[in-house]
Amino acid sequence: MTTLVKREFHPFEAAGEHFLYMVPSAGVFHIDQASRAVLDTLEGREMTAAELVSELGTEVGADAVVDAVAELQEIRAIGPGRMPPEKPLPVLPPAGFPLTTMVLNVTNKCNLSCTYCYEYGEDKIVDTDYGSKPKFMSEETAREAVDFMLKESGANRVAHLTFFGGETLLNFKVLKKTLAYARTQGALLGKEVEFSLTTNATLLRPEIIEWLVDNEVGVTISIDGPQESQDKFRVFKNGMGSYELILPKIKELLRRHTSRPIGARVTLTRQNLDVKSIFRHLTEEMGFWEVGFAPVTTADGRDYAIEGEGYDSMLAQFSELALEFQEAAIENRHHGFSNIKDTLEEIHKGVSKAYPCGAGLGLMGVATDGEVALCHRFAGSEDHKIGTVRDGVDRKLQYGFLEKHHVVNKTDCHTCWARPLCAGGCYHEAHTRYGTTTAPNLHYCDWIRAWTDTCLRVYGEIASRNPRYLDRFDMENRVPA
Ligand code: SF4
Ligand code: SF4
Repeated sequence: MTTLVKREFHPFEAAGEHFLYMVPSAGVFHIDQASRAVLDTLEGREMTAAELVSELGTEVGADAVVDAVAELQEIRAIGPGRMPPEKPLPVLPPAGFPLTTMVLNVTNKCNLSCTYCYEYGEDKIVDTDYGSKPKFMSEETAREAVDFMLKESGANRVAHLTFFGGETLLNFKVLKKTLAYARTQGALLGKEVEFSLTTNATLLRPEIIEWLVDNEVGVTISIDGPQESQDKFRVFKNGMGSYELILPKIKELLRRHTSRPIGARVTLTRQNLDVKSIFRHLTEEMGFWEVGFAPVTTADGRDYAIEGEGYDSMLAQFSELALEFQEAAIENRHHGFSNIKDTLEEIHKGVSKAYPCGAGLGLMGVATDGEVALCHRFAGSEDHKIGTVRDGVDRKLQYGFLEKHHVVNKTDCHTCWARPLCAGGCYHEAHTRYGTTTAPNLHYCDWIRAWTDTCLRVYGEIASRNPRYLDRFDMENRVPA
């Protein structure tokens, strides 16, 4: 008779109930007492169904054990023993998959001189890679990029165009013309183009805000929090802080621009880790709809990278905000902590990633000269170029990249239960820390697993106490990170 063993999953508890997060299928299943008894009994053992019934029948009932064994086999939480370890082959996306989001680096010039930027490359690879790249994208290149995006979006009805920098608004003239061109060309092809933009807010002025409102451009503001941190890190070249300049501009933007939620993106460094105070300031005092945190974890020993106790502090504070989010969700109230919202959405949709993000897949970055890169952070890097907006994508390069970076080729991730959501982590971080995009980001695995476990528990609580809250994720389209 076939013997059974435990397969790969991550158990967690929420709302007084027991759940399994299945790997690699990424399903979340509630399990009853009999299933728990079966899994506990199989710990480190190999048994037949009959042996399980004989051992557990008196305690939980023979029928319940039989049902539990069948259910656990169906979800692949248990299965036949003595199978050779599976080494799956990378399954590549089918040829002709569409581009969902194009990030256009309209300039690589910035009017701020953020203290961590040269170490971390906050928004892109900051090194000598730019070489002779133009500082500003020309109107002609931007138009070619739009044509490229519409063509690459294939059969998709909606294409997403994100303007990025440097400081994006330094090239407002080209932004304006590009948006108008994309609208017209999109309409000719029966497509809708959605626009978004990231800015440090220093150059927002009434006519720009008007334009953002009129065109329903989604806006993300890069900001580091209350005045003290903002003025310490986000400074002008003469060392002057930027808080007082941006505060009235952001307030005006938030007052006027109500058609799309305005988000804040905070760079967390070793010196700027007071997550909760930053969150409170940006939501309660400034009025941002949501706040996302991007930790700098690139390399131990470098000035700004978070390490050691910094991870513990960040996890504790993220967990507190996650619990607040959970309580708000249970009462159908809004809470603006976007890091958990994004992960809950992925859990709900059963996302099991072959790749950590859409880079080189549904997402591409375009440099000021029209070179196409894996994503915005690689835009301008010769080593990570996969084509040009004029000549299109070099499919051989693109598929070579996708094959090499598939999660099955990341040995360290094979046995990790968090891989459906992590898949090795950001290529840019890996490149900065390990010198290669193929390396999994093993320096933050403990943090990733602990944070993913927190998100799963929050998901379980919401699923048990207000399942209808999760319905919203079925409605929202996800834009790749
Ligand atoms: S990088 Fe670490 S946490 Fe992420 S999938 Fe790989 S082993 Fe798991
Ligand atoms: S997560 Fe992906 S898209 Fe985002 S910066 Fe890293 S490589 Fe680029």
